[in-house]
Amino acid sequence: MERRAFLLLGAAGVLGGCKREETSRPSFSISKGRRIAIKLATSWPANFPIMGTGIERFAQRVHEASGGEVQIKVFAKNLLVPALGVFDACSAGQIEAFHSGPYYWKGKNPAFALFGGFPFGFTATEMGAWMEYGGGLELWRRLYAHYNLYPLLGGNTGVQMGGWFRKPITSLADLKGLKMRIPGLGGEVFAKLGVNPILLPAGEIYTALERGTIDATEWVGPALDLRMGFYKVAKYYYSGFHEPGSTLELTFNKSFWDGLDEDVRQLITAAANELNSSMLYEFQAQNAKALQKLRQFGVQLGSFPPEIVEAAKRALQEVIQEQSAKSRDFKEVWEAIEPFWQINRAWTALGLKNYLTMRDGP
Ligand code: CA
Repeated sequence: MERRAFLLLGAAGVLGGCKREETSRPSFSISKGRRIAIKLATSWPANFPIMGTGIERFAQRVHEASGGEVQIKVFAKNLLVPALGVFDACSAGQIEAFHSGPYYWKGKNPAFALFGGFPFGFTATEMGAWMEYGGGLELWRRLYAHYNLYPLLGGNTGVQMGGWFRKPITSLADLKGLKMRIPGLGGEVFAKLGVNPILLPAGEIYTALERGTIDATEWVGPALDLRMGFYKVAKYYYSGFHEPGSTLELTFNKSFWDGLDEDVRQLITAAANELNSSMLYEFQAQNAKALQKLRQFGVQLGSFPPEIVEAAKRALQEVIQEQSAKSRDFKEVWEAIEPFWQINRAWTALGLKNYLTMRDGP
């Protein structure tokens, strides 16, 4: 960290009154000459837009801001560990860090899904508020510590689209027996509405939809969905409620993190905060652009009918009750979320929602 060292030297020169011609070195160490190597595995394919390119920029930022002392090598999925093996690999210390999404780990602890978000839940802004100013991050860190992990916020997708359907969905009856790729708590809610939720890795979704092995899929939003080509095989694209602002995580092995010098931890945290906010802005910009293209391709945009939305809200309550009965941690996290969610939604409704009803376009 040469620039920082220079500033410290300058300050020491002024405060200590030492003259420039003095040859004795200050007593404190200036250049630590550290070389910190971090292997960071992701759950994303190589060159994956927004999420993948975002974490690459983060690594570059840390490298440059540390004057080359901290080198983060990013490994796309399956290069070092499988896409969904990153949690275990980092917990065991085989890698120092990973970039992924907490809802992938609900099998380890159902409570982890809630840190990613939940149907009808936090918007990205509300989620950030809970994490940073409502105790969410502290709670997350306490639960991850059992796995020797230390999470930082690693981005947010913003509101996700409800998915691509080969046939129009106009009533609850249209969902019965529908085979849909949809993970997480959203999948559990849809299961209660008669959907058969299916988990498929990214590389297999398009073909399954094209062949009719599945009838529908959700993915992320216009930018990443356009790239997957779903519009070629499913014409109906609906707004969603299942992932209103999904958190991504930038998680470190806790022993490794605790062993880092404080200035390095602060530098990484600052770069992660940059990643966290800039990813949301990039999703906004790219989604808007991709939506124009999807309109040009004749995609039928729509929303689920009120009958489905109301049934999904009831289903969510059942899912929350069931999970809370099964898992003490889930119950604790949910009870931390709910009051914060209620008072924050009241403000979002009064401020943002009312504003949007006044003016929804330029
Ligand atoms: Ca999704």
